[in-house]
Amino acid sequence: MLELKPTCECCGEVLPPNSPKAVICAYECTFCLTCAREHLNHICPNHGSKLVERPSLPVSAMVSPLSGASSTSAV
Ligand SMILES: [Zn+2]
Ligand SMILES: [Zn+2]
Ligand SMILES: [Zn+2]
Repeated sequence: MLELKPTCECCGEVLPPNSPKAVICAYECTFCLTCAREHLNHICPNHGSKLVERPSLPVSAMVSPLSGASSTSAV
């Protein structure tokens, strides 16, 4: 199962689960977007795998009570 690491493995920057700055390789190494871009060239240094944007947590796992603005428009 997917184990989300909370920090960049390169610089140690904290990357919250919903951080848009987190990227992962195919083997789930986690880096920040800055490291990926600045000196990793979007390639995992451990595996040579491409670094891609980390998907955020599934919606079913995080239901936000604040976003309920799509229920009163029947056509
Ligand atoms: Zn970093
Ligand atoms: Zn890796
Ligand atoms: Zn770095």
